[in-house]
Amino acid sequence: MNALRQRKSWIAILLLALLLGGCSSRSPQETADAAPDEVPQVEPKGKVYYTYFDTVSYVYDYAGDSAERFDDRSAEVSHILSEYHQLFDIYHEYSGINNLFTLNKAAGGDALEVDPRLIDFLLCARDMYELTDGEMNIMLGPVLRLWHDCREAAEANPSEADIPSAEALEEAYRHTDISLLEIDREHSTVRLADPAASVDVGALGKGYATERAAEYLEQQGAAGYVLNIGGNIRCIGDRPDGSGWVTAIRNPDNSADDFVRRIRIRDTACVTSGVYERYFTVDGVRYHHIIDRDTLMPARYYDSLTVITPDSALADALSTALFCMPWEDGNELAKEIGNVEVLWLFPDGEQRGTPGIAGLTEEQS
Ligand code: ADP
Ligand code: MG
Repeated sequence: MNALRQRKSWIAILLLALLLGGCSSRSPQETADAAPDEVPQVEPKGKVYYTYFDTVSYVYDYAGDSAERFDDRSAEVSHILSEYHQLFDIYHEYSGINNLFTLNKAAGGDALEVDPRLIDFLLCARDMYELTDGEMNIMLGPVLRLWHDCREAAEANPSEADIPSAEALEEAYRHTDISLLEIDREHSTVRLADPAASVDVGALGKGYATERAAEYLEQQGAAGYVLNIGGNIRCIGDRPDGSGWVTAIRNPDNSADDFVRRIRIRDTACVTSGVYERYFTVDGVRYHHIIDRDTLMPARYYDSLTVITPDSALADALSTALFCMPWEDGNELAKEIGNVEVLWLFPDGEQRGTPGIAGLTEEQS
């Protein structure tokens, strides 16, 4: 089977999984513009958490739930995030659970029994690998660790900053094959079949956890909520007046309050990956944190890229994968998957969007 046909069959399987409630259990929903009605605006309520995924998380209620109900719902969102935070943590272990730190530590050894939620997540990660033709690969751990260590060393001592050697990167890459991740769903076990293999779920974990929290809110019948988990934005329903929410896309060249466009969203997820998010500098060259498996270097196609699609896990995986693809391939993939809007910001300032982006863009005032 050629690569494109193989990818298409994966897309068909994945879309079926979406509908059947597998990896991403939400079916895509229309986000057509609804005319604002007479519902009065209420002051949003918000909660902020600093302890999950090494980032800041917000929960907002724009629907005017009672304080008690908002407290209950945000507490449960926080609980869901805290559990996924522990399961996905590759730097710490927690008593009583086998998480990704434990999995990496046990690489090359016996299969490890893990929480079924971790199995579901790893299966989703594998689906995302197939869907993106391997551009988003959680098994890139050994390569990402080299970059991570250089970034930390550069932060500690900028004058000594350096990048990993090509030899070290190539050696690390030999231990990143997706087939080294052995998942046994029936027995709820997982194994890394190479002592030098490791997973890094930075490209997918937050988006996946965000989707699980959104799923809880939807099951509660909540609408008019917004989650922002370290930039993974997920709107649950719409504002009561049908006006949606406006999110501003940052100018990658400038300060955090300079925006290139404002996009109106409702009942969907919106995730941006950018070169300005995490990086270090060597000899005036900036090295950011999204690594292209073809070069083992930071991807150089774009300065920032935004994905809008109903499922936050898919949005997160695609934000990283499309970042590592030439525009033609990324545009084709977005079209094949369907109900995916993308805004690409090129290093020379050019902006390109999928056809639906124009309809979501707010006029500049
Ligand atoms: P962020 O979560 O920082 O906003 P991303 O969603 O794009 O940004 O994820 C970037 C993170 O994903 C990196 O910090 C690294 O841990 C991991 N990563 C980088 N490149 C890849 C890749 N090609 N495939 C899988 N994971 C990657
Ligand atoms: Mg991502």
